Amino acid sequence: MSKNDKEFVKEITAMEVDFPQWYTDVILKTDLVDYSPVKGFMVIKPYGYAIWENIQNYLDKKFKETGHKNCYFPLLIPESLLKKEAEHVEGFAPEVAWVTHGGKEKLAERLCVRPTSETIICSMYAKWLKSYRELPYLYNQWCSVVRWEKSTRPFLRTSEFLWQEGHTLHETEEEAQEETLRILEIYREMAENLLAMPVITGRKSDKEKFAGAHATYTMEALMHDGKALQAGTSHNLGQHFTKAFEITFLDRNGDLQNPYHTSWGVSTRLIGGLIMVHGDNRGLVLPPRVAPIQVVIIPIAQHKEGVLDKAYELKKLLQDVGVRVELDDNENYSPGWKFNEYEMKGVPVRIEIGPRDIQNNQVMAVRRDTLEKQSISMDGLADSILNLLDTIHNDMLERARKHRDENTYYIEDFEDLKKKMTEKLGFAKAMWCGERECEDNLKAETGATIRCIPFKQEDLGDKCHFCGKKAKHMVYVAKAY
Ligand code: AMP
Ligand code: ZN
Repeated sequence: MSKNDKEFVKEITAMEVDFPQWYTDVILKTDLVDYSPVKGFMVIKPYGYAIWENIQNYLDKKFKETGHKNCYFPLLIPESLLKKEAEHVEGFAPEVAWVTHGGKEKLAERLCVRPTSETIICSMYAKWLKSYRELPYLYNQWCSVVRWEKSTRPFLRTSEFLWQEGHTLHETEEEAQEETLRILEIYREMAENLLAMPVITGRKSDKEKFAGAHATYTMEALMHDGKALQAGTSHNLGQHFTKAFEITFLDRNGDLQNPYHTSWGVSTRLIGGLIMVHGDNRGLVLPPRVAPIQVVIIPIAQHKEGVLDKAYELKKLLQDVGVRVELDDNENYSPGWKFNEYEMKGVPVRIEIGPRDIQNNQVMAVRRDTLEKQSISMDGLADSILNLLDTIHNDMLERARKHRDENTYYIEDFEDLKKKMTEKLGFAKAMWCGERECEDNLKAETGATIRCIPFKQEDLGDKCHFCGKKAKHMVYVAKAY
């Protein structure tokens, strides 16, 4: 390790020492975000925003392929609309920001800054929908929402966050359920194929479901420190909102009916997730498909004849096959400084090229995830790099899955769970009676919650692990962000 190297490593708190501080160091030092003048709100800087754009582009394409269209509804929602669905307002009221004045004038009715848009969208759907022939409605919007969160952390939980929210209407209950699960599957596929983040999918308990939902489905990921993260949710809203908002249509028999309704969202929280799944003590480790810079080329002895020319040639070669590549030819920093910088920023592949490499018709490539070095021939370089990026993605996904599986375990009984939740965190698999009281007690006693009732059920006995009553479901339990 060079002197430079040592100094650099010191800047980021080791994750084993203080995981929250490691996270803060990483996001600030890699220029993803900054704190804003208003507590709980974040400024997303270009490097962070580029990650969000890659997530957006990926999902937007999937949504459109499955028939969804984008639209935009207003930021402000009249109080009377927010109040229409009883469970919904009860759930969101504590977190809502209100607009009370326009200029100097007090408004006749308070307006809330959308915490989510079911209510305003339903008020419009009620106006538009007439007949079954128009169904399904498959709309999505990309926007930000505001929820006045008590404790916040950039990306993971902020008072304003960027997200997409899908809102669909269907003729039948079955179609709405199909849509809810179709979207969850899109989310799961995105988490694994874009973010290299393995997830557990399943249904939320009634306590944890979305305010006003008939059923909420979720994907849950396990972070490096053993805490879980709810990474995305898809809600089957049944007819709760469509009845409250009097959305009706003439069905195939000429009868007036309420449609079935879904909503679903993922947010900038995903960025926090991928940092905490893949990062290490040197900083970010970005999965190649979502990384703003996939390959950085660093010329060695760049003043020597031919080095920069060759480096530019390589850059063009990679650009032409669609690789997001940068060449850092800044003369004011040494190659060693640059190695550290791009390592910290999590760039998946670094290519070093100097006079000797050129002589040997090769480059040196260094993987960020393993720090392995390999020389790669200039012949067929573009293909070799594309393959390498895929290999890195697959290896990162596998490593994250291994970490998740090694931190997923069975428990003997409630005492055992309490002990494990203090000692090692992770996912505990357990049987649950399905009762709210038991779930409340679980949280009070362990600080952990039921993350989901997974689709993949296992039979772990007929007694609830927490209270001893008859078991209904197998669940995943974890402490969560
Ligand atoms: P919800 O509408 O409550 O189901 O939220 C949809 C998704 O947004 C959740 O699954 C989270 O991934 C994300 N989310 C919820 N609250 C926050 C927050 N305060 N900051 C960032 N992301 C959030
Ligand atoms: Zn129980």
